[in-house]
Amino acid sequence: MSEVPWKSCRRLTGYPTVTWRMFVVLRWFEECRVKEFPFVTVADVSIPYFGTTLKALERHGFIFSSPGRDEVCFSITGVGQRALRAYSKPPRGMGGREALCPRCKSRAKEQFPHSRGVWCTECRRESVRKYQKMKAARRAGAICPCCRERPLHRTSSGRLRGYCRECHNSKERARQQEKRQHHE
Ligand SMILES: [Zn+2]
Ligand SMILES: [Zn+2]
Repeated sequence: MSEVPWKSCRRLTGYPTVTWRMFVVLRWFEECRVKEFPFVTVADVSIPYFGTTLKALERHGFIFSSPGRDEVCFSITGVGQRALRAYSKPPRGMGGREALCPRCKSRAKEQFPHSRGVWCTECRRESVRKYQKMKAARRAGAICPCCRERPLHRTSSGRLRGYCRECHNSKERARQQEKRQHHE
């Protein structure tokens, strides 16, 4: 079972507060049940303060005790199994439901070194493409902001420039000239 990255305690709606220790012990009880020796005694474990944790688990009805041959035995209950399943899911914002992209609801949100994206990589790229397309469409019929009479220059690759061909060329010439002067 992979380690769930949560510390101290958690509280899920409809469940009591569960400490990490309670969770680990409960999980251990469940492993014992699966391995078909569901009844364990306190002597079976070497976890510090195990007794306190046991009391807490018993108080919540996660485990029940029954007198064994020599010692009291404990076993996980149905309530305990349900709680274990609920708490086995990663906490919110740590790989849980909220880590999923809200747009496609299937892929994980993009991970950056210090933060997490709003969407997944695919959705972000798609939205950027859509935005650029929309912007291009809006600009398609636009006129040059410099001379305010000729349409924007479309390059051979289909890209729209910020100015008409004439204005673009004259600005380019001016820039080259300035560059030359700078180097002289
Ligand atoms: Zn997505
Ligand atoms: Zn122009």
